[in-house]
Amino acid sequence: MREFAYSRAGDLQEAGRLAEEQTGRFIAGGTNLLDLMKLEVETPKALVDISRLPLTEISPTEDGGLRIGAMVTNADLAADETVRRDYPVLSRALLAGASAQLRNKATTGGNLLQRTRCYYFYETSAPCNKRDPGSGCAALDGFNRIHAVLGASDQCIATHPSDMAVAMLALDASVETRLPDGGSRTIALKNFHRLPGQTPEVESNLQPGELITSVVLPPPPKGRHIYRKVRDRASYAFALVSVAGIVAVDNGNIASARLAFGGLAHKPWRDRAVEEALIGQEPSQALFEEAADLLLKEAAGHGHNDFKIPLARRTLIAVLSEATKEAAQ
Ligand SMILES: Cc1cc2nc3c(=O)[nH]c(=O)nc-3n(C[C@H](O)[C@H](O)[C@H](O)COP(=O)(O)OP(=O)(O)OC[C@H]3O[C@@H](n4cnc5c(N)ncnc54)[C@H](O)[C@@H]3O)c2cc1C
Ligand code: SF4
Repeated sequence: MREFAYSRAGDLQEAGRLAEEQTGRFIAGGTNLLDLMKLEVETPKALVDISRLPLTEISPTEDGGLRIGAMVTNADLAADETVRRDYPVLSRALLAGASAQLRNKATTGGNLLQRTRCYYFYETSAPCNKRDPGSGCAALDGFNRIHAVLGASDQCIATHPSDMAVAMLALDASVETRLPDGGSRTIALKNFHRLPGQTPEVESNLQPGELITSVVLPPPPKGRHIYRKVRDRASYAFALVSVAGIVAVDNGNIASARLAFGGLAHKPWRDRAVEEALIGQEPSQALFEEAADLLLKEAAGHGHNDFKIPLARRTLIAVLSEATKEAAQ
């Protein structure tokens, strides 16, 4: 690991000032950033430790939603009584991620900004446009089993690894930030992460030095909450395909459907056309197959990951069947 300066911020102003002065990177739980520094994938000159910032509250919002501080750990968020009762899809997604030890350190802000698990991104001798823009993409013709089938580009086919973000996308969450000039803004989660395009090294719409302060969830949506994660082993593995589904059935028809997907694209993926195709319809295998066809109509594999297309299809159909089970009986 290379030398770097380290300072700890006591409040938001100080965090902003330190980040600006030292052109430093924030470090929260450190469970991703430190790994990347040890491998010299990332070599920040300065770290601004934000772990003592008072951003550890989970509190109700005026409109009946929930505000989650950026430093709330994944373990505390998954165990929170309100989250478990009103947003179970989020609790389930969090518990499907990493290990208990990691969840105790990993934070809400850090989880959103964790970087891809593409093998070549971590291997500094391999070409990788995300790590070293313009060097090429070793995954395109390499071993791309875990890579994207939707929204990829000729520059990068990496996926986003977060489970939490998939559930938050289905919940229509938004991210609150503090800008380097002291101002603040709110970014809808659907606009937070980026597709790779020609600049895969730019992964979110945050500005340099912009700090995530919290994530806000709107009031809890009605319906059955499901998080299904398909992975190589039962725990401690990233999603090959995951689906966060919140589906409500009323008088035998689907009244609302929110569906978000992990493991398929460079960012948590949501396709409103798929949801709209389900609303007002009577649940059936044929309807679910149509929805899966719509979701995957532009999906493209790269060889080793071709299997993800039928896997995503089956996973979505299984989630929709489970979510509407009682209505179909
Ligand atoms: C073995 C292993 C298995 C894992 N399995 C899973 C899994 O199955 N599913 C899953 O979702 N995750 C998994 N993870 C990833 C883990 O969830 C992330 O490493 C963790 O959530 C990152 O949070 P952190 O607080 O440690 O972030 P850090 O490592 O501290 O930071 C990550 C990035 O976020 C930035 N950052 C952090 N906080 C802020 C903020 N408030 N504002 C602005 N920037 C910020 C940092 O500068 C850095 O760039 C796994 C990790 C490991 C090591
Ligand atoms: S898929 Fe993206 S992260 Fe992986 S090697 Fe290619 S450019 Fe790098």
